[in-house]
Amino acid sequence: MSDFKEFPCPNCSSELNYDAEKNDLKCLHCHTVFSIEKSDELIAEITIDSFNSAISSHMLPINDVNYKCSKCGQETKLKEDIAFFECRNCGNNVINASAYKSRTIVPSSIIPFAVSKDKAMEHFIAWIGKGFWNDSSLKELSIADNLVGHYIPFWTFDANTENQWSGQSGTYYYVTESYRDSQGKSQTRSVRRTRWQYKEGQFSQFFNDILICGNQEITQDYINKIYPFHLDELKPLNEKYLLGWNAKAFDKDMNDSYTLSKNFITSKVEEMAATYLAADTYSGLEVSTEFCDETYKHIILPVWFCEYLFKDKKYFFIINGQTGAIHGEKPLSTTKIVTAIVLAVIFVIVLFMAFS
Ligand SMILES: [Zn+2]
Ligand SMILES: [Zn+2]
Repeated sequence: MSDFKEFPCPNCSSELNYDAEKNDLKCLHCHTVFSIEKSDELIAEITIDSFNSAISSHMLPINDVNYKCSKCGQETKLKEDIAFFECRNCGNNVINASAYKSRTIVPSSIIPFAVSKDKAMEHFIAWIGKGFWNDSSLKELSIADNLVGHYIPFWTFDANTENQWSGQSGTYYYVTESYRDSQGKSQTRSVRRTRWQYKEGQFSQFFNDILICGNQEITQDYINKIYPFHLDELKPLNEKYLLGWNAKAFDKDMNDSYTLSKNFITSKVEEMAATYLAADTYSGLEVSTEFCDETYKHIILPVWFCEYLFKDKKYFFIINGQTGAIHGEKPLSTTKIVTAIVLAVIFVIVLFMAFS
């Protein structure tokens, strides 16, 4: 059963949005700012058992739901996992408070947007303008129209690990070798050899807040590029933070998310074991890892997305909505490439004339 909530401005009944610059609610019409009640509730780490049992239960199918606007009567049809939407007729802001309940695990906390759209544009212009190759006409593109703030669901995983490792540790040494050169004369040279020795050991390592994206449209490698998020700023989830922003429940397979975090831990453990094993080099490294005290949190983080066209080609970038870190592909400017090639050719000719 859907649970729609509206938060009209107490002054003028217009729409309230969560404002990234004020960190509070702001009326779009009369511009009055209203504070969001702060909670000092602790954000708990939850033992992994409930996550594992949620994996084994099926993800429920996502149904359509209907909302009848309380202001204009227009019906809006939407997917039940959409947490915020606007009436398509009058723009009335509506929170779908049951959206996250369409999944077996509901997020506990959120980092609200701290980078406003204006600030996100500033980050984009600073980034795109940095390179020699970027066309200044980019600034005229309608980036602002395509720049959209999304609250993205994430998982954080913690684990203690007990690790046993073994392998061959290699130490370099040098011997002097005689050989005959092309004229048949006797010469000597220093040659590197490796002395191998079997080694083994164990260590414990705690991993805190391995952050895995729960949105299947964005790969983990891509989102990693705008890390870190400062998770000490997580606040208990209050749906008012969602007002005016896109927000949707997680849609990536939970097992895949968990596997990504385990793979991350395993590769870090292997890197550490390799540094314990290697003197100068190593081979045949074997590591066995036991996971214990595993916990998780389900959280929501702010990300700006933008897809735009430049000379008939699609480009995409993302911005961390907490820190402003940006990642994406930059278009190349053909004018600047041609100019650079011409300049390089002139440079070579000048060099050639100077030395001939
Ligand atoms: Zn107002
Ligand atoms: Zn309406």
